[in-house]
Amino acid sequence: MATSPSLSRQEDLALREAASGRPRTQLIANDLKLSEPERALYERLARRRFADEPLSYLLGHKEFYGRRFWVSPSCLIPRPETEGLVEAALNWATGQAHRFATEAPLRLLDLGTGSGCLAVTLTLELQARRIAVRSCATDLSEKTLQLARNNAAWLGAAVQLFHGSWTLALPDTERAGGFDLIVSNPPYVGIEDPEFLSGELSWEPAAALVGSRPSQDGMNDLRELSMQALACLAAGGLFAVEHGSRQQQQVVSCFQDAGFSHITPMNDLAGRPRYVLGRL
Ligand code: GLN
Repeated sequence: MATSPSLSRQEDLALREAASGRPRTQLIANDLKLSEPERALYERLARRRFADEPLSYLLGHKEFYGRRFWVSPSCLIPRPETEGLVEAALNWATGQAHRFATEAPLRLLDLGTGSGCLAVTLTLELQARRIAVRSCATDLSEKTLQLARNNAAWLGAAVQLFHGSWTLALPDTERAGGFDLIVSNPPYVGIEDPEFLSGELSWEPAAALVGSRPSQDGMNDLRELSMQALACLAAGGLFAVEHGSRQQQQVVSCFQDAGFSHITPMNDLAGRPRYVLGRL
C-alpha cells in the first residue's frame, strides 16, 4: 500500500480515519483501501499537511490528558508538556483537599484558556479525586472562548468563561474571596525565537504564542500575569504557570517582584525547566 513518503505512518492513518470516518483497525483490516470520494478527501488533507498545517487542525481535535479536545486555528493546540502543569497543580490540590468541601469548593481560575484544556482537565480531575471545585476561565478572544465553551460542554465540565484580558475579564463577584488555584499557559514565545513563524507554529494564532504585546524575550505577559494573579489569589492559594525553557530565571524573578512565597521552579518530563509555582 503506497503511503506518501512525507507522512509518517501515524499521520497517514489519522488522515485516512478522518477522510473515511472509519477507525484505523477497520482500515488496516481492509488493506487501507479508501473509496474514490474518501481518497479525494484524503489527498486534499495530505496536501495541506505537506504545507506544514498542523495535523490537529486538519483533524479538528487533539488529545490532552486522555481526553479529546476540539481545536481550530483560533486556539493553540494543546501540548503534552502542558500536562506537566496539570500534574503539578493536582499534586498541590490533593495535599490541600481537606480545606475544601461542597459548600466551600476549591476555586480554580485558568487565565488565557484557549481550547479550555487546563480548566476542563483540572475541573474533571479534581472532581475525580472528590475535591469540590468551582471553575472560571478567561480568554481575550471571543472566538476561542466559544471553542472552550464547546469543549467544556462536550466533556461535561462546569467552567464559567469570561471574555477579556487575564483577570480583568472577571466580574467583581467572581474576584471576591479570591482563587485557591490559578493556572496559565500564557503566550511566552519571543519574536526573535528561531521557532517562531517557522513551520507549524506559523499556523497557530500569534496572540497565543507571542501575545498582544510581542517582545524579544517573550516575558511581557508572564510579567503582567504574575502581578494580576497575586492580586486574585486567596490566602494559601497557588499560582502555576508554564514558560519557555530559557525563561525560568526571569519568571522566578517576576514571581519574587510580585511578592509570591514558596517559589518553586519545575522541569517537564524531558527535564527542561518549564514551570514555576508560587504561593501567597
Ligand atoms: N509551547 C508552545 C511552543 O513553543 C508555546 C506556547 C505558548 O506560548 N504558551 O510551541
